[in-house]
Amino acid sequence: MEKAKILIVEDEEDILELIRYNVAKDRYQVITAQSGEEALQKVSSIKPDLILLDLMLPGVDGMEICRRIKGNPATQNIPVIMLTAKSEETDIVIGLELGADDYITKPFSPRVLLARVKAVLRRQPVNESDEMLNIVKYEDLVIDKDRFEVTAGDQRVELTATEFQLLLLMINRPGWVFNRTQIVDAVRGEDYPVTDRSVDVHITSLRKKLGASGQLIETVRGVGYRIKDQR
Ligand code: CA
Repeated sequence: MEKAKILIVEDEEDILELIRYNVAKDRYQVITAQSGEEALQKVSSIKPDLILLDLMLPGVDGMEICRRIKGNPATQNIPVIMLTAKSEETDIVIGLELGADDYITKPFSPRVLLARVKAVLRRQPVNESDEMLNIVKYEDLVIDKDRFEVTAGDQRVELTATEFQLLLLMINRPGWVFNRTQIVDAVRGEDYPVTDRSVDVHITSLRKKLGASGQLIETVRGVGYRIKDQR
C-alpha cells in the first residue's frame, strides 16, 4: 500500500519540526504548510490522506481552513486532526461541529499524536464502492444510508427514523462519547421530539433490536453513549 500523505499545517517552526520528525519516522509521507493560504493550496493540489491542523495561524486561521475543507465535496472526506491549546475549548467544539475528526491539545507527546493519526486513518472507509453506495459497515452491522436499512449479522433490523439516525451518528465515530445534548441536537426525532431523557429510551430500544450487536453500544456513566471501538 502506498504511504499515507500527511499534511502538517503549523506556523511555529520548532513544533512543525517536532511533528515532521515523528510523523516521517513512522514512515508516513510528510508535506508541510506554514500559513493558511499555503495549506489550502496544498490541500487542493496534493489531496493529502490526513491533515494535522494548527488552529492559531496568521492570515486564514485553522478554523476557516477546516470550514473550507469540510465544506467542499472534493475535500470533505480528508480527515482533519486539530492541534489546539487547552484554552481553546470553544474552538475545539466549533471545529468538531465543522467536521474535524479529532483534536490534540498542546503540549502533546509524539506517541499520542501518532496514535491519533493511526486511529483516524483506520476509521476511513477502505472500500470505495461501499462509500459510493453509502454503506457503513462495523463489526456485524451493515447500514445502508440510501435504503434506510440495517442488518445485524444476517438479520434485517427494523428501526425507527430516530433509532436509525442515532446508530449512524455513533457508528461513524467508534470510541467517541456522545452526550445526551449532542445526541438530541444531531438526531432531531422525526417520529416524536427527542429530549434528553428520551435519548435513554431510544438507546434501550436500539440495543434490544440489534440483538447480539446491541452490546456494541456502551453507556459511559454520567456522560452519554458510544460505540465500542473494536479496531
Ligand atoms: Ca500556531
